[in-house]
Amino acid sequence: MSTIAFIGLGNMGRPMAGFLLKAGHQLRIYARRPEVFQNEAKHLIEAGAIACSSPAEAAQGADFIITNVMGTQDVAEVLHAGSEAAIKTAKSGAICIDHSTIDPQGAKDIAAVMASKGVAYVDAPVSGGVKAATEGTLVMMMGGSDQDVAKVKEIVKNYAKTITHIGGVGHGQVAKLCNQIAQVINIQGVAESLRFAQANGADLQKVFEAISGGMAGSRMLDLMGPKMVSRDFKAGIEARLHAKDFFLVKDASTKSHLDMPALQTVAVQLEKLMASGWGYDDTSSLLKVLEA
Ligand code: NAD
Repeated sequence: MSTIAFIGLGNMGRPMAGFLLKAGHQLRIYARRPEVFQNEAKHLIEAGAIACSSPAEAAQGADFIITNVMGTQDVAEVLHAGSEAAIKTAKSGAICIDHSTIDPQGAKDIAAVMASKGVAYVDAPVSGGVKAATEGTLVMMMGGSDQDVAKVKEIVKNYAKTITHIGGVGHGQVAKLCNQIAQVINIQGVAESLRFAQANGADLQKVFEAISGGMAGSRMLDLMGPKMVSRDFKAGIEARLHAKDFFLVKDASTKSHLDMPALQTVAVQLEKLMASGWGYDDTSSLLKVLEA
């Protein structure tokens, strides 16, 4: 059994940490808001996790340092840039596993800093959302050396159903962003399709049923179509997370002069969605952006 530092106990992190405790690992957990230990994460403490007051305290003696925070700056802050970052205490030979979705170049930069202290790094972003995290059936994309990935798989298999080693550090994040590009452009397509049906006075439910059995059928149509038809915009998948990832890809593609016109258009729609205050609602709210 391993000693694992777990940093970031949000919607995704909490169930993942629960699986590690269940598997018998010793968990040292850190949450930015200490009240989390008395509330959302109380069950983890009751199951034996040790509450820590900083990433550095959590990383003490850890074989693995798992992060599940938000963006690139957040991962950098908890691992090396903050005043109480994990790097201050991390032992040589430890491996960082980052499940956050961040910039691939940012992942490489963080890995280089950690390597200066003999700490390895594997980017391991996930797909499947809170449902798959709770069920332990996440889809995971990994970037790192063969040796590190082999060790990390033994840990993350407790909550991941499909694990694909894509390539070197950063390539897990590249794959995750590919997932987001294909997914969210598809959601925008579903929204425009149903908006067209609506504008032409057609029955949305019947249109959905007809097209989901045809060549337009897709996982995203199956997931988002019924939500749009019934106007159930409760998340689901919080649009703020898709927006964060889309803005990341938009910046990266602009910097490398990549022509991605659909991505650019959908990014504008997500900006409008966020400006409307719907970030904590489901990404099916892209339909409401079209209606507005
Ligand atoms: P969340 O907002 O529920 O949780 C994030 C947690 O990270 C919070 O507890 C927050 O306090 C903590 N955090 C953020 N910045 C921090 C910092 N600088 N220092 C310390 N703690 C910090 O979000 P989530 O849904 O759990 O998502 C976490 C990551 O997983 C994100 O990168 C997200 O894009 C990715 N992700 C989410 C989903 C999903 O459906 N929710 C699916 C796949 C991937």
